[in-house]
Amino acid sequence: MSASASTGPGAWLRRADPGYPSRRAGLSVSAWQPPRPMPAAIATPHTPDEVVEAVRRARAEGLRLAVRGGGHSLSATHLVDGAAVLDLRHLTRFDVKRESATAWVGPGVTTLAAAAALDAVELSFPVGHAPTVGLSGFLLAGGNGWNTPVWGHGCERVLAADVVFADGRRAVVDDETDPDLFRVLRGAGPAYPGVVVAFRLQLAPEPPRIRRHVVEVDARDAERVGATLDEVVATLPAHVDTTVFWHPARADDDVPTLTVAATSFAPGIDDGLDPIRSADLPVLSTASTDAGRSLFQLLDPLPRHEGDAMFSDHLWTDAGYRALLPLLPTRDPRLNAASSVLLTTSARRADGAAPGRAVYSPSGRMSVSAYAHWDPASQGPEHPVGWARQVIARLAHLGNGCYVGEADLTAGRATLTDCFGGAGADLVRRVVARLDPDRVMATPFTGHHGS
Ligand SMILES: Cc1cc2nc3c(=O)[nH]c(=O)nc-3n(C[C@H](O)[C@H](O)[C@H](O)COP(=O)(O)OP(=O)(O)OC[C@H]3O[C@@H](n4cnc5c(N)ncnc54)[C@H](O)[C@@H]3O)c2cc1C
Repeated sequence: MSASASTGPGAWLRRADPGYPSRRAGLSVSAWQPPRPMPAAIATPHTPDEVVEAVRRARAEGLRLAVRGGGHSLSATHLVDGAAVLDLRHLTRFDVKRESATAWVGPGVTTLAAAAALDAVELSFPVGHAPTVGLSGFLLAGGNGWNTPVWGHGCERVLAADVVFADGRRAVVDDETDPDLFRVLRGAGPAYPGVVVAFRLQLAPEPPRIRRHVVEVDARDAERVGATLDEVVATLPAHVDTTVFWHPARADDDVPTLTVAATSFAPGIDDGLDPIRSADLPVLSTASTDAGRSLFQLLDPLPRHEGDAMFSDHLWTDAGYRALLPLLPTRDPRLNAASSVLLTTSARRADGAAPGRAVYSPSGRMSVSAYAHWDPASQGPEHPVGWARQVIARLAHLGNGCYVGEADLTAGRATLTDCFGGAGADLVRRVVARLDPDRVMATPFTGHHGS
């Protein structure tokens, strides 16, 4: 490969090139990545045609392919030893058709960029809860976005995708052209056997008003706080999106706290938040915001965690707060203040139905995500990774599977069956075997018992 071929749009950066270490680190939003996987090359296509070209080039060189959308996989599924990584951040198409409330959206679009574009056309979408999350990995994983109980999961609003396959072929996939592949598109996450260069989405109506009430609670009496939360959350209307963040204490004179964040997408004057406002909880502080009709106003003030090292693990469970909270670790000085265990019953549709025509199938009414955040420079590199794993291991006897978007997929920890159930895992295997028989697309499930 000549030096000139390493520059310009669509260029490849090789391991020996000077900019490689920083570009590899910049693929992930986390300041910590597993040290070993060293891709052979990083390609940054600017157009779908350049994606086709990159796939063909990788094929000609005998390289496997990995994909980076927005870089939020904390298992760094985009880092694969010896593979060519396609960094899709420049594919930021956002073409809305207001009459049909649909849009073609590129894989480089972030949650915040999508929210801004949707505000401008007075439409909405269940985008992810954090401003920076890539829409593409989020949609492929299933997409537990804002107002999921009412709007449904992000993947349910994927109508079609423009896909480049491992053999360089490009095609639009929908429920008619290939129903099995369409189901895999809706939820297979990093097991998807193709490179999505655009998603066609069914948008949601703009919410009438978005209001948020946040309560910080002393969580030392975890069982009592949990029992109250179970009662309160059961009375909330479907259009209140409720997330509970458990924060362990970090110093001896500190206490574990809970942040209860309730966000109302209510149509009427009554926002439905009164049960949270009046809950009998040991309240430390409260805050309320009104974002009007704007998802962007809701998302923009939320923390970005830039510079943090991060790692996550996940579990679905039918247990409630009263059973779960007393099992969570109360203290860890190695974490930074953003570390939390997120527990939410709003990661499911209000009617309890699984997404239609999808391998995505939330296997519990409560989603539990352990997010470790730390400063790799001052706290050493890796032990908080173990913290996230330990949180989930403590709850494992109450769990039933995990979410592919947040589970620990490193070293074959979560299997296809853990993520998709038996029938979903079989469907993923069949579709991968048909469309990518040579296993050119690297997935975290390749090469261990889950594949
Ligand atoms: C801070 C934070 C907040 C989060 N909040 C939420 C949330 O509210 N709801 C939720 O459901 N999840 C959430 N997640 C999880 C998130 O949805 C997943 O990590 C998702 O994979 C991120 O997508 P990405 O494009 O940013 O990541 P990437 O790391 O770029 O993508 C992950 C993998 O998906 C595959 N992939 C991505 N794009 C493509 C494509 N175009 N074609 C083919 N394969 C592709 C690749 O295998 C890739 O390695 C959050 C994660 C973080 C770190």
